[in-house]
Amino acid sequence: YAAKRQTGGAQVYDPSVDTASAQTLSLLSELRRAVDRDELRLYLQPKIDIATGVVCGAEALVRWQHPERGLVPPLQFIPFAEQTGFIRQLTLWMVEQAAAAQAALARANVRRVSVNLSTRDLMDQELPDKLDEILHRHRAKAEGFCLEITESAIMDDPARAEATLNQLASRGYKLSIDDYGTGYSSLAYLRRLPVSELKIDKSFVMGMERSSGDATIVRSTIDLAHNLGLTVVAEGVENEAILKLLHGLKCDEGQGYHMSKPLPLAQFHDWAQRWQVVPPQVLAGTELAS
Ligand code: C2E
Ligand code: MG
Ligand code: MG
Ligand code: MG
Repeated sequence: YAAKRQTGGAQVYDPSVDTASAQTLSLLSELRRAVDRDELRLYLQPKIDIATGVVCGAEALVRWQHPERGLVPPLQFIPFAEQTGFIRQLTLWMVEQAAAAQAALARANVRRVSVNLSTRDLMDQELPDKLDEILHRHRAKAEGFCLEITESAIMDDPARAEATLNQLASRGYKLSIDDYGTGYSSLAYLRRLPVSELKIDKSFVMGMERSSGDATIVRSTIDLAHNLGLTVVAEGVENEAILKLLHGLKCDEGQGYHMSKPLPLAQFHDWAQRWQVVPPQVLAGTELAS
């Protein structure tokens, strides 16, 4: 549509607004085409049980294999997809891919696959039915899924988000708070929600070696979450020293480049085969088994 602005009664044409909306429309149609042309990719990043080193889960992360731009990371199109509402279609696509991959993932020791939800998803009261329909077609169980939600996605409209989350939990989906520590909500509030997992944001985990402040945040978050009966996952485990620290703090699960970057399903499977032989040495090497 033509971009016009009111100035003293006269309609003034503003080319900058027009260009912006034209770009928006073209990116939106490109994203729609990406689905039709099969350009979206499911990537998976392993989560390990820190006490044993064994793979226990995987997070589904989207990539866009663009014909000219190459492999586009999610932060370059997810915010846009959220603004335009396209994210709802993308979420269903991810759940469909994850459901289709469940048998292969089970062979790689993954008992639960995590999928990210956005605030738009939480505002959709039909989401639980849509997810159930997809799982039903793939004979997959809700218990095999964990849905990750950021604090900010909940705080947009807490009452509505809470209603959707209660529905999802009652149907068996496990719920997780993602990027914990970056928002302003308190655990006192979050514990009212039917969540069972807390993921500590990678900024704190990556910083815990060098910053005593970050280390303190990680330690007290783990203790508080455990006292509330939540499982704690650390994201951003980039090296062995961090894994060692987390082991000492009794953090339940870890996810990060030290184990593996997100991979396409076939490569994930190869990685998991190799990893199954390695974990005892990984933890023995840290000498924290007491
Ligand atoms: P997130 O859900 O917090 O996912 C974790 C991000 O941290 C991933 O980035 C992952 O590659 C990265 N990461 C994991 N371990 C490490 C590490 O050791 N070091 C570093 N530097 N980074 C690590 P990615 O795949 O680029 O995704 C970024 C964000 O985009 C996600 O953050 C999530 O908010 C969003 N996103 C990705 N896929 C989806 C999706 O399918 N749906 C929705 N709604 N959002 C998605
Ligand atoms: Mg996530
Ligand atoms: Mg996260
Ligand atoms: Mg994040």
